[in-house]
Amino acid sequence: MVKNTLLQVWPIPAFDDNYIWCIHDGESALVVDPGDAAPVLRYLAEQKLLLKGILITHHHADHTGGILQLLDALGRSIPVYGPATIDIPGRTQSVMQGDKIEIVAPRISLQVLEVPGHTLSHVAYFANMQANVVEPMLFCGDTLFASGCGRLFEGTPTQMTESLAKFAALPKNTLVYCTHEYTLSNIRFALAVEPNNANLLDWAQRAQDLRAKHLPTLPTTIGQELQVNPFMRTASKEVIDSALRISGETSLPTPAHVLAVIRAWKDRF
Ligand code: ZN
Ligand code: FE
Repeated sequence: MVKNTLLQVWPIPAFDDNYIWCIHDGESALVVDPGDAAPVLRYLAEQKLLLKGILITHHHADHTGGILQLLDALGRSIPVYGPATIDIPGRTQSVMQGDKIEIVAPRISLQVLEVPGHTLSHVAYFANMQANVVEPMLFCGDTLFASGCGRLFEGTPTQMTESLAKFAALPKNTLVYCTHEYTLSNIRFALAVEPNNANLLDWAQRAQDLRAKHLPTLPTTIGQELQVNPFMRTASKEVIDSALRISGETSLPTPAHVLAVIRAWKDRF
């Protein structure tokens, strides 16, 4: 029987600041980037959920370290989706740009976006509105964070700029499920880049209030990130001016040049 109850998405905290997102319909569950198995097993048991699939965005250990243990504990037949162009332990389904993943339980249809930058083979999973998904959802791994973006370990500023542009083209109400709680430190940096961004100042206050109550600052939305995230605002005058000032350059002709400067600035901030 196919269930069509509204899907819920909950964070399972792991390590210091990771979130392993669990998508479920009250019975069947998917998890995204289980870097650690123990908190997932505990959560599934508490909520009486059956794990029906694992989605992997990229190969880093804090996103993949729990896969094999979950399969050992819950069954080797659970499908593991992951980027095609790199080895992911336990992966059973290789995914590429444009692939559509149809999962029966919980019922969801996901679209694969290749988003190189943080790593070269990084992918994201997008669920547009459908019968049981009221607002579109994006599982973006370490590509986009609330008010920040992933470090460029493997990709170039141009690749990251293009990857973030793919996200910018998604519906503004898309809920963005990032995999780390980096928001407050990202906001401190974003305020150094855009001290006069009123939306950012407002968001800083709301995010501080959430963290003071130990609540996640996520999900964010694409619409919100377009207003407060300097890495998605590389065409805005204040971001460009800050990038020119910090780099001493006289011109930064493309958004990728601007992103390169602010990403390097963030790395040492
Ligand atoms: Zn990573
Ligand atoms: Fe990570």
